Amino acid sequence: MFDERFTDDHRMFRKAVRDWCDREIVPRAEEFERNELTPREIFRRAGELGFLGARFPESAGGSGGDFWFTVCWAEELARAGLAGTAMGLLVQSDMATPVIGALGTREQIDEFLKPALTGEKIAALGVTEPGAGSDVASIRTTARRDGDDYIIDGAKTYITNGTQADFITLAVRTDPDAKPNWAGISLVLFPTNTKGFSIGRKLKKLGNHSSDTAELHFDGCRIPRRYLLGEENHGFVYIMRNFQGERLVGALTAAAGARRVWERSLEYGQQRQAFGKPIIKFQVWKHHFVDMLTELDAGTALAYMAADKYDRHLRDPARNADATREISQAKLYCAEMAQRVIDRCLQFHGGMGYMEEYFIARSWRDTRLISIGGGTSEVMKEIISKYIGL
Ligand SMILES: Cc1cc2nc3c(=O)[nH]c(=O)nc-3n(C[C@H](O)[C@H](O)[C@H](O)COP(=O)(O)OP(=O)(O)OC[C@H]3O[C@@H](n4cnc5c(N)ncnc54)[C@H](O)[C@@H]3O)c2cc1C
Repeated sequence: MFDERFTDDHRMFRKAVRDWCDREIVPRAEEFERNELTPREIFRRAGELGFLGARFPESAGGSGGDFWFTVCWAEELARAGLAGTAMGLLVQSDMATPVIGALGTREQIDEFLKPALTGEKIAALGVTEPGAGSDVASIRTTARRDGDDYIIDGAKTYITNGTQADFITLAVRTDPDAKPNWAGISLVLFPTNTKGFSIGRKLKKLGNHSSDTAELHFDGCRIPRRYLLGEENHGFVYIMRNFQGERLVGALTAAAGARRVWERSLEYGQQRQAFGKPIIKFQVWKHHFVDMLTELDAGTALAYMAADKYDRHLRDPARNADATREISQAKLYCAEMAQRVIDRCLQFHGGMGYMEEYFIARSWRDTRLISIGGGTSEVMKEIISKYIGL
């Protein structure tokens, strides 16, 4: 689909990611799931192979590619069927770091972005707090000026890569009295070796077991003010812009992961017999598979339409409108669609689908996250409502 968007370079990149996943991720799936962590060496390998920086400018340590490289990267990680590992790596390449590429000073790029793109430093994105998730504007972690430093106090929760991150792209409140409250938020780069920082609980999750998710605490942490990203009190706008890439990646991974489950289920249905014939031959299941394929194609088309608009916007923001509405629609549709498709595929497997040893149980659990993380389906509907004047 949208084949003309993918050049030979994209195709070679996609194949390289797929081969790497088959070689170095899929065989270690059980280990990563059991340890509830994707180990550091996987981030380093992804960096060495040029996967993390494919769409960043060369001056920032990337390869200077367009957003379609991210499409290939996200889809192939999702096809590997280990959503936790995919999420950890995508936080590194597409959630915690693009804002540094967009706003970072030379010094910030050298100290944080370049080692993140080589995989030497692990990055996390710290927005959500115990008292503020969907309502980002109400975060309470503060950064108080003290001479040339900020003093940071507060807590974050549900932070992916949280137990092993070397730095956090962190949302903080720099003006507690700002009205409206979103006008008092900033983004800073926070090294996790800062005194006063501690990791709280490593959180037990329903799915995505191969990623680590943590509570984080900040107690009088002093960082230099030169770690501020962009302008003070402009952070809310930066976070909302940054969310667009994150949500689009969520839509792409949802659709690609569900398509892989559909393909594997189709193969299974040709082998498994009941009442003397392969179960895929029952008319009810043929129709279900047609319905699912139609939904998968619709979701991918929506996500690619959003990717096309987003890519053009990133390359020339002055001439091309942003893609917030399309990305929100893609995230909304693909997240809900993937859950429907994977649930139906699980049903198609009968008892086998309910067995922990079989891939589909994991996909079913993992996919539940996508309509929650990075902005819930309800929040997507609120955004789209605004765009259509409701
Ligand atoms: C596994 C996992 C990994 C995550 N990783 C990260 C990370 O790396 N960094 C990070 O910062 N965050 C991360 N998150 C947090 C995630 O982005 C939030 O969970 C999400 O934004 C929802 O916020 P919340 O959990 O506080 O839910 P709430 O905001 O409390 O929402 C609860 C319910 O209320 C509904 N609701 C809220 N507002 C509205 C509204 N205006 N209209 C209608 N309904 C509404 C929601 O849709 C939801 O159904 C992660 C979460 C999970 C589960």
